[in-house]
Amino acid sequence: MNGEVNRRTILKGFTVGIFGLGGVISLGNFLEVLTFPNGQKVALAKGVILVDKSLCSGCRICEMVCANFNSAGRNAASLSRILLEKEYLGGDYQPKVCHQCADPPCLKVCPVTALQVDRQKGTYARVIDERACIGCQKCVEACRQYFRPSRPRFDVQKNRAVKCHLCFGDPQCVKFCPLGVLRVERSEKGLLVGYPVIKED
Ligand code: SF4
Ligand code: SF4
Repeated sequence: MNGEVNRRTILKGFTVGIFGLGGVISLGNFLEVLTFPNGQKVALAKGVILVDKSLCSGCRICEMVCANFNSAGRNAASLSRILLEKEYLGGDYQPKVCHQCADPPCLKVCPVTALQVDRQKGTYARVIDERACIGCQKCVEACRQYFRPSRPRFDVQKNRAVKCHLCFGDPQCVKFCPLGVLRVERSEKGLLVGYPVIKED
């Protein structure tokens, strides 16, 4: 990853995969850093959770596992970073995951840079340093402009925002989903996913 901030993104070729109806579109074979017209450079995530909602039964095991793993045993659904929704039309269940956006609105608005790219764990997930977070919820609002419900959650007890960090590279929701609804897409070169590639209604 040396010299990444000086590197312009070069499209080396597309590999496009659509995983499940209404799922996540991922584009591969990019270099690691995307450079935007305003000059901002953000390293692409090297992993993202993809969803095949057609397999989902609505059991909510993913939510329970996430809340338990990430919230020190406080098994409250409101603390889960994966959100199960039932669609009004058709009644299908739709697990909603953080897309680890290429141009992450949540990261860009954080006033104290608590939201960062996780280079330490090597996932390059967009993560919140809960020690730095001041609980302003700007990230929650920023995500909600593009994805509903907003993927960062607010932990009222801690007065901190929390979000998916890919469980440091081994997402527990993926591991424990009994029906194979979830999987992790990985690329060492980074994945062009989430905003601005996709935007949910
Ligand atoms: S804007 Fe939302 S979906 Fe995108 S990285 Fe941030 S929390 Fe995840
Ligand atoms: S709630 Fe925390 S992580 Fe989110 S924008 Fe505010 S300070 Fe940053």
